Amino acid sequence: MRHFVTTLRGHHVQCAVAVAAALLVLAALAGCGQSPGYRHYRGEAMGTGLALTYAGCAGDVEAVVVQELKRVDAQLSTWRSDSEVARFNASATEDWFPVSAPVAALAVDALALSRHSGGAFDLTVAPLVRLWGFGPDAPVNGSAPSAEAVAATMGQVGWQKLEVRLDPPALRRRIAGLSLDFSAIGKGHGVDGVAERLDALGCRSYLVDIGGEVRTLGQGPQGGPWRIGVEPPDGGMPQWVLRLSGQSAATSGDYRNFRLLDGRRLSHIIDPRTGAPVSHPLASVTVVAASAAGADGLATAIQVLGPDEGWNFARRDGTAALLLVRSESGFERRYTESMSQFLEP
Ligand code: AMP
Ligand code: MG
Repeated sequence: MRHFVTTLRGHHVQCAVAVAAALLVLAALAGCGQSPGYRHYRGEAMGTGLALTYAGCAGDVEAVVVQELKRVDAQLSTWRSDSEVARFNASATEDWFPVSAPVAALAVDALALSRHSGGAFDLTVAPLVRLWGFGPDAPVNGSAPSAEAVAATMGQVGWQKLEVRLDPPALRRRIAGLSLDFSAIGKGHGVDGVAERLDALGCRSYLVDIGGEVRTLGQGPQGGPWRIGVEPPDGGMPQWVLRLSGQSAATSGDYRNFRLLDGRRLSHIIDPRTGAPVSHPLASVTVVAASAAGADGLATAIQVLGPDEGWNFARRDGTAALLLVRSESGFERRYTESMSQFLEP
């Protein structure tokens, strides 16, 4: 744990460092000067930082990665008006709206997670995210929305009101005003896309990190698994380190992205069941899973469910999850049995 870097400043990095940007929370740990054959690349992606460390790839990694990230941006971004999701949101149609196969497939996975989490995870939460002052086109409000406004907006939300078709790929809204926000799985999806391109280039090892969502393959520069530090919600040195080789990890937290309203912290995570930002003491959830989109989605779902329901949900399924819960003496750490294999003693 001697060498760690959590910022993304600078482009050319001499040692195997890592990352954490925007609202998510992992920093890779690695030694300097011990990475023969490992290369590093940093850039920006999906409104946050991208960092790659890789070895044994054949071909122009940088070009392939940039192209893949452009593709993901054109699928999901709601910070531009011409992406597939932005165009679906802007359209009022209640007919089938054609999208690319990856967007339809991701929406199918997202709906499965909605069903599985009892509606805690919900792509259609977009109008509530906006109402509470988050997201690309949120009005700057000095006050909380009224109960009436929340109730009216909840009428435009509901994963059961979204239909997805795979062949030919398309989305359909069953109610007027339904719009989608893929932010809770988008970065993970981007990480998976980049990782799959690196797989296709024959890389033997990599760490792909977009804003703290990561996917790994093979060994880190020091040999052995990649060491990924989980950033404590109050900043400071990572106290918990994941050892990953072939898995992905994602964190969902309430502490990187929040607004202050009348002295109260408003989380950017909305509980679709109440229509309001979550307000429990669960500060962060880190999930390890096979795919980064899977880890990203589960981390958000558990973050919505909170310290007790989320904990039971993770344990019931055997999900590898680490929960940091605010307590009077700092943070209480809880992790599931399946997480223990990834936690460095
Ligand atoms: P993450 O940081 O991956 O947990 O994603 C959080 C983002 O997902 C928020 O900034 C919102 O844009 C969106 N979001 C908020 N609440 C939910 C929810 N209940 N289900 C799905 N996405 C959500
Ligand atoms: Mg997420």
